[in-house]
Amino acid sequence: MGLIKTSITSLPVIASPCTVIWEKTHGTQIWLCSCLEQKFRRCPGLPTTSVIIVFHNEAWSTLLRTVYSVLHTAPAALLTEILLVDDASTDDHLKTRLDNYVRQLNIVRVLRQRERKGLITARLLGAQAAQGEVLTFLDSHCECFPGWLEPLLARVAELPTAVVSPKIAIIDQDNLKFSKPVPKPHYYSRGNFDWRLKFGWEGIPDEEKKRRKTETHPIRTPTFAGGLFSVSKSYFEHIGTYDDQMEFWGGENLEMSFRVWECGGQMEFIPCSVVGHIFRKKSPHTFPNSSSMITRNLVRLAEVWMDDYKWVFYRTNRKAASIFKENLFGDVTERRKLRERLKCRNFSWYLNNIYPEAYVPDIRPVMQGQLENIGWKCCLDAEKTKKRWEPVQKFKCSNKSRAQYFEYTSQREVRLSSGIELCLHATPGRALVSLKLCRLKGKLTTAAPEQVWIFTQTNHLKNPSSGKCLTVSGGNVIVTPCYSTRLSQSWVFI
Ligand code: UDP
Ligand code: MN
Repeated sequence: MGLIKTSITSLPVIASPCTVIWEKTHGTQIWLCSCLEQKFRRCPGLPTTSVIIVFHNEAWSTLLRTVYSVLHTAPAALLTEILLVDDASTDDHLKTRLDNYVRQLNIVRVLRQRERKGLITARLLGAQAAQGEVLTFLDSHCECFPGWLEPLLARVAELPTAVVSPKIAIIDQDNLKFSKPVPKPHYYSRGNFDWRLKFGWEGIPDEEKKRRKTETHPIRTPTFAGGLFSVSKSYFEHIGTYDDQMEFWGGENLEMSFRVWECGGQMEFIPCSVVGHIFRKKSPHTFPNSSSMITRNLVRLAEVWMDDYKWVFYRTNRKAASIFKENLFGDVTERRKLRERLKCRNFSWYLNNIYPEAYVPDIRPVMQGQLENIGWKCCLDAEKTKKRWEPVQKFKCSNKSRAQYFEYTSQREVRLSSGIELCLHATPGRALVSLKLCRLKGKLTTAAPEQVWIFTQTNHLKNPSSGKCLTVSGGNVIVTPCYSTRLSQSWVFI
């Protein structure tokens, strides 16, 4: 039995024993030294893979850079083919010129989606045509690091129900340099989501750090970014590929994350596999109905995979609520049948077991809406001032403004949930009330005393730790001693 070692030719000089890490020379820790020690079995061997790259009007240079970086880094024995799937590009260079060019590369094929339908159906087209045992998806503007492929394939071989992503290094869109992730690399170690169903990055929580025995161990992640990943072809089919009724772009990564976890699989990042991706500040693509397209995709996934927690999402997104109400999200019967057939667990199980660090809002809050001050006939309003949130007063009540939408929770917080969870906060020794990040986050935390407000029978909002009441006074919202008859201390949700 032979051993294949990962090659690391582009890395800086490595001292022996391996102590010099990327961080020192490149300003960011991209590669872990212990990854260099990893060994992979040659016999019976790693599975083969088809690399599927979907694109729409990608630049020639970035597309070819992606293709060549795969050709230069993937061991020939493992790379069945590279499938370039054109999502009906209109740029001339992506037509006959591309066909002619890739012919000389032998294992590269171009497939075309006649009509522009988006990356989901384009990836499905690639997946159907693929001959390899594992499907590896990449965006069309990536650069693979040496040794990126073997750790992905090794993990899929070891755990066929795992959907594995490489660590994604950021390539600057302006100068194509690998740049230091902002603000710090360890914030970018796993994926999460907020209740607007927006994907985000976060650090690895202590529990997960404890579970992983070594730094090279796969990182379990509640969600993945969805552009770059490997999955066994047969498992991809078993678990229901994608929701092919989703359009163009967006939401498919959360759909797949919730589905895979709920139906018995695993989503992981593999720290020893590194692929660079050009992150763009703005999508270069135009989408028909762009404003409701992503939301429609999100409604579909909420309807199938989130049970009653879909109501939390609908509260944060009015457009989603109206797409739901007017039944504009299409038919999800097949996806619900898939969930039945695979005997998947529910979303509550997912939250408890896979993402216990998440803040889980009440499915129905105790009270919600605008918080009107009875004395002043104005509404509590969150205005962002120099990165700090101060609630300001005397704002005309306007139900159009999200800055006036508050929820009174079962944990007695007054929350403004606009993705970042902000709580009404009475700072000790300070009259002025502000909005600060809520301390209550996952299952293991409690509400901060400064963020607890008792809604009294006299419509006062009393903060028990200071013993004071929320008051409109002059130009400000402050806490002052409570007087049961004072109307400037009386609040009502409207
Ligand atoms: N893409 C596509 N059709 C679309 C939108 C995107 O084929 O309608 C491709 C795009 O060329 C890229 C991949 O899908 O290879 C992911 O899109 P993008 O890079 O814009 O997403 P991001 O990485 O910014 O999330
Ligand atoms: Mn991309």
